[in-house]
Amino acid sequence: MSFTDLGLSAPIQKAIAEKGYTDPSPIQAQAIPAVLAGKDVMAAAQTGTGKTAGFTLPILEILSKGDKVRANQARTLIVTPTRELAAQIAENVEMYGKHLPLKSTVVFGGVKINPQMTRLRQGVDILVATPGRLLDLYNQNAIRFNQLEILVLDEADRMLDMGFLRDIKKILSLLPKNRQNLLFSATFCPDIRELAKGLVNNPVEISVSPKNTTAETVEQLIYSVDKNKKAPLLTHLIKTHDWQQVIVFMKTKHGANKLTKQLDASGISAAAIHGNKSQGARTKALANFKDGTISVLVATDIAARGIDIDQLPQVVNFELPNVPEDYVHRIGRTGRAGASGHAVSLVCGDEIDLLNDVEHVIQTHIPREIVEGFEPVHALPASRKLRALKAKKPKKFKTDKPEHKDGQRSGDNARGHKPTGKNRRHTGNSSSSNPYANSPGKPSGNSGGGRRINPSPAK
Ligand code: AMP
Repeated sequence: MSFTDLGLSAPIQKAIAEKGYTDPSPIQAQAIPAVLAGKDVMAAAQTGTGKTAGFTLPILEILSKGDKVRANQARTLIVTPTRELAAQIAENVEMYGKHLPLKSTVVFGGVKINPQMTRLRQGVDILVATPGRLLDLYNQNAIRFNQLEILVLDEADRMLDMGFLRDIKKILSLLPKNRQNLLFSATFCPDIRELAKGLVNNPVEISVSPKNTTAETVEQLIYSVDKNKKAPLLTHLIKTHDWQQVIVFMKTKHGANKLTKQLDASGISAAAIHGNKSQGARTKALANFKDGTISVLVATDIAARGIDIDQLPQVVNFELPNVPEDYVHRIGRTGRAGASGHAVSLVCGDEIDLLNDVEHVIQTHIPREIVEGFEPVHALPASRKLRALKAKKPKKFKTDKPEHKDGQRSGDNARGHKPTGKNRRHTGNSSSSNPYANSPGKPSGNSGGGRRINPSPAK
C-alpha cells in the first residue's frame, strides 16, 4: 500500500513526500482510512510506530474541508501528557499541514499563559495541549469548544499514570457530544478500558504490534557492574565506542543531575532533562542534543516520553525502571521506524528483581557481558526462568521520589488535586490475551466531509 491509496489530498501528499516517507506504517495504513471514514478509533500503539502521522494526516484532510474556525474556538483538540510530546505533535501538525491554510497551536504549562491566550484569540483548527494548561485556558475564557469536531487522547495510559484522570473527565465534560474520538495508548490496562467506555463509540480497534515486545531492530545488552562503578563504566563506554548521541535513562531527577555533573567532569558534554527543569532549559537541552552540541541527554522516564530523534543509535539504562513496561518505552527511543539501534543496561546485583520483571515483560533473556576492569564484586544473580505472560490484576507500584507531573497546574496540589502516583503495571499484555486484534475500519466512502454523529455522550 502507498500513501496515494489512502485518499489524502495533494497538499498532504506533497508534505509526506517532502518528509521522505514512501509507504504508510502499519498503524497509518489502518488508522487513516478509519479516521477519514469518521469512525472512532481505539489504537494500541507505542511511540515509534508512526502513530502521530496516523491521526494527524486524516485530521488535516477532514479539517481542510470543513467550516472556518471562529475566535477562541478549536476544531480539533489533541490532549497529550507532557510538554515535550505536545511540542512534538505540534511540530508534526505544522509540517504535514504546511501546504494547507489551517491554523494550529500548542499550549502547555511551565511557560507564560498570555502569549497562548493571544494565539487562541483568532481560533485554531488544531489545538495540541497538556491537560492542566488547557483547563486553565478554559477557565480564563481563552478557549471554547462549540466548534469541536475531533478529540484525540494521545498516550492515554501515561496520562492516567500521571494522575490526569480528573482533568480528562473535566475536559470531556466541556466538549460537544457530537464529535469523533481517537484514543491512543501504548497499553490497554483496565483503567484505560474504563475510560474508553465513556469516550469512544463503536470504535475501530487497532493494534499494530504485540504489546510490550521490543523492536526487533534494537540490539539489547546488559553490562553487569557494581552500582558504584556505573558512572565510570558509562564514561568508559562512551569514550571507547565514541558514542556521539546517547540518551541515558535514570529513575530520579536527583540521579539525573548527579550523573550529568559526573559526565561533564570527565569531559563528556551532557545535559539533564526532567520535570524540575524549566521549559526553556528542556527545550534548549533537546535542541543542543539534536544538533550535536551535547552528546549525552540524561533523562527521567516522564521527561523522555515522546522525545523523537530520528535514528537515535544508542540508549543506556543507567538504572532499570521500576515499571518494566517503561523499559520497552525507553528502548523504543532507538531503532525507530526501521533503523537499527542499541540499548544497553548497566545492571548491579541489587537490580535482579527489576531485571526479572523486564525479561518477563519482553519474554526474552537479555544477553550479558562484563567489561574488563569493571568486574562486579557483587555478581548479578542468574535470571529467573521465563514464565508465560498472563493477565494479572492491576497492582500498586512503589516508586522512588515521584517525578514532577508534566502539564499539571501549579495550583493542583493546593486544590487537593494530586496526581495519583499509581504507576500501574499494565496488564493483559500477552498477544494471546489481546482483544485488540487487527480490525481495520472499512472506509464508508465518506471521505471526511461529513461528520459522524456520536450518539454516546462523553461523561
Ligand atoms: P511516532 O510513532 O509518531 O512518534 O513516529 C515515529 C517516527 O517515525 C518519527 O520519526 C516519524 O517521523 C517517523 N515516521 C512516521 N511515519 C513514517 C513513515 N510512513 N515512513 C517512515 N518514517 C515514518
